[in-house]
Order: sequence, then structure tokens, then C-alpha cells
Amino acid sequence: MSDTYCNVAIVGAGPAGIGAAAALGEAGIKDVVVFDREAQAGGIPRHIHHPTFGLLVFKRPMSGPRFIEKIIARCKDVRFELETSITGIEPAGVLAAASCKGSRTIHARHIILATGAREKPRHPRLVSGLRPQGIMTTGALQKFIYGEKLSPFKRPIIVGTELVSFSALATLRAGGAKALAMIESNSRISAYRPAMGFGALMGTPVHLNSQLVDIGGRDKVEFVTIKGPDGTKNIACDGVIFSGDFVGETALMQSSHLEMGIKSRLPLVDNRWLSSDNKTSVIGNCVHPADMGDQCYLEGLEAGRNIGQILTNKVDNTSGEFVAISHDPGIKFLTPGAVRITLGQPQKTDIRLHVRAPFWGKINVVQNGKVVYSKRHRCQPARRITLHNVDLSGIEQTQQNSPTVQTLPQIEVKLV
Ligand SMILES: Cc1cc2nc3c(=O)[nH]c(=O)nc-3n(C[C@H](O)[C@H](O)[C@H](O)COP(=O)(O)OP(=O)(O)OC[C@H]3O[C@@H](n4cnc5c(N)ncnc54)[C@H](O)[C@@H]3O)c2cc1C
Repeated sequence: MSDTYCNVAIVGAGPAGIGAAAALGEAGIKDVVVFDREAQAGGIPRHIHHPTFGLLVFKRPMSGPRFIEKIIARCKDVRFELETSITGIEPAGVLAAASCKGSRTIHARHIILATGAREKPRHPRLVSGLRPQGIMTTGALQKFIYGEKLSPFKRPIIVGTELVSFSALATLRAGGAKALAMIESNSRISAYRPAMGFGALMGTPVHLNSQLVDIGGRDKVEFVTIKGPDGTKNIACDGVIFSGDFVGETALMQSSHLEMGIKSRLPLVDNRWLSSDNKTSVIGNCVHPADMGDQCYLEGLEAGRNIGQILTNKVDNTSGEFVAISHDPGIKFLTPGAVRITLGQPQKTDIRLHVRAPFWGKINVVQNGKVVYSKRHRCQPARRITLHNVDLSGIEQTQQNSPTVQTLPQIEVKLV
């Protein structure tokens, strides 16, 4: 096994990884290498041809491939090593890599993990039935229709009503197919309400308060059984698209030394995207499954700028104690999931979160038993809620006679 060396090794050439690479190049950091297991850089947006990218970054809508082309053009002095899978992370900036040329160890001054997210496939959704052809996620559908120019079915149903579910409607239309129904277990759609108008325009009804209970058909999908407010019924169809319900691509982190959220099972990072190992950052949808491509790119830029400053000794925000923020089981995950605390130094941060089920009520942040943030929020599972400027600087001071003893805080986010 050979050894190679670089300044920064980025794992994942999606919008987040490309953003970090661009910022590092701008900061004058040489020898930045972006690794991706695919033969082409760009991550998920390579397969999305409708104009849902670019608004935040370029102030105009564009397709995924065009967005990728434009952000890659901003990467100076960056090397892309494609068809290379990263198979392990170790402390002190060490990665294990494998490609058709063999395996090797990569040593970097800093590692950035940007491995993305994917939709939950059928298996973990526990839907009964046989394994006929014609069951896939939106991501796979987009590869078929935009990548291979193939239409796997003509009249499928879509499970889920997130933004990506409506993106599946648009993809089907591009492939000459039409969804017969969308199925949502909650009493309203997960995407913002105007998306319903798009569904109506496409002639696809949404079944609310409904669940997919069975998929029928031996070789090909022939029907689905759904259970809703009017009882159980079959809908004849030729495919099922499981959309949304994103999970982070975290296999690499799960088997590493990096600290993971106990409930979220996602890598914990502080508000500068540094993980529990201060030589490793984690960014993009593997930390918060799943935000839009533009947001992930901007986040990559932010993380890259910070690492550029650390590597050129302009700032040092890598020290301090890494303290995980615990949370209510009704919260799916928080970003940041941790704070780096140096006793006596002020600490204010925004906390973004996603809930598991619709919730309308107070969200409290409690530090050592004291409420430091409290505000009512209306939350939907697919939406990001931001708690602005949460003040975590009040470190507990326990006076036992004297001298004063300072202790690290215990921080918890609660749904009240
Ligand atoms: C089906 C679908 C539709 C979407 N539609 C839209 C949309 O219309 N508009 C929008 O703004 N956003 C959309 N998104 C979200 C958008 O794709 C993401 O915001 C964006 O791609 C996330 O960027 P990322 O860099 O975090 O991850 P990704 O784009 O997922 O990139 C991760 C990269 O990491 C690589 N990788 C992972 N593990 C390894 C490893 N071990 N070794 C080497 N390489 C590895 C992968 O090959 C991949 O290229 C969609 C997402 C999905 C899944």
C-alpha cells in the first residue's frame, strides 16, 4: 500500500466539496485534492435537469449540470481524483483510499468530508409485498430519465410530498410519464403549500393521512394498497417512487473515531463545521440531510474559508472542549450538533433543526437547567427551522466556598 500527501483532502465532489475546494483555492492553499468514487464530479445535481439550482449563488435559475459546470470553473489549483473511493478515516488527517489502481493511504493537514445524502429506499421503510421491478427512489429515476434517457414506467405512484417528490413529478413529465397519485402520511404536504398547485397542474391527486401498506405484482409492479381516511384501497400502477426521507451518507463516519449524534446518528460538528477531531471537517448533506444544492455550496465556501485561515495561521478556532448538544427525541437532528467551548469565552450561535413530525409550539434551549432561548415555531419535518443567536456563553460557575470552579455546560434543545 503506497502513501500520498496533500494539504487538504476533500471527500465528495458534490456542491459542498466543490465549494470548500473553491474557497481553499481562493485562500491560496495549494495541493487541494477532491476525491469522488464516481467517474464525474458534481454529486447529485449532475442528474437533475430542471432549473432548481443557482438562484442563491448566481441569482438566476439553472439546471444541475450547468450549476456544477459554473462552480467547478471557480476552483483554482484544485485536483480532482475521480473513481476513487475513500474507505476509512483515521485521526491525524489519515484516509484509506481504493481505486482500480489499488489501495493507498492519504495523509493530509486537513480532511473535509462531504459525502452527501440519499433518499431512504424501500427496505428500511418496511413496506410489505414482493420485490417486483419498478420500485426506486427519485434519485434513481433521475438517473434513468436524464442520464440514460430511459423511462422505467408510465404511471407510477409517488410516496412522499417533500420538494424532491414534486421534483419527481417534473422528472416523470420529462420522461413522458405521469404519476397517478402522491401519498402522504401527514394531514398536509411536507413541501410548502404552493407545491400542491404544481401537483394539480400535473393532474396528480395527493392522498393525505394515507399510508402505503403493500406493493402488488410478481415480476412488475401492478398495484399498490393504501390505507387512508376512507379505509383501504388498491390503486393500479406500474411503479413506485420512494421520494425524500433523506438519510446522510455516513457509513465512512460511523466506522471512524468521529463523534456521532446519539439520536440522529449523524456526525457532530461545531458551528465552523469542525468535527470532534479538529483536523476533520464535515459539511453538506451528510450533516443535515437534505438541504438545497446552493445552500450546500455556500456552506462549503464558508467551511473552506475557515480552514484556509486555520492553515495560514490567521485564526485558531480549533481548540476548546467539544460539547455535544443533546435534544428532544422529536427533533431529527441539529446543526451544529455540538459547540467548541473555551471556558470564559463568549459563544453565540444559530442552531438549525428538523423535527420528525409536524409540531407547533415552543422550542427551548436549556443550558445547565436555565432557559437561554425560548420561541414558538411552526415546524414541518422537511423544513429547516433556525433558532437565531442562541447565547451559550454563560458557563456555569460553581462557588464552593472559594475559589470559583467553572464547568462545561450541558446544553439541550427541547420541544415544549
Ligand atoms: C433525488 C434528489 C433530488 C434533488 N433535487 C434538488 C433540486 O432540484 N434542487 C436542489 O437545489 N437540490 C436538490 N437536491 C439536493 C441536492 O442534490 C443537494 O443539496 C446537494 O447535491 C448536496 O450536496 P453535497 O455536496 O452535500 O452532496 P452530494 O451532491 O450528494 O455529493 C456527495 C458526493 O460524495 C461522493 N462520495 C460519497 N461517499 C464517498 C466515498 N466514500 N468516497 C468517495 N466519494 C464519495 C458521492 O459520489 C457524491 O458525488 C436533490 C437531492 C436528491 C437526492
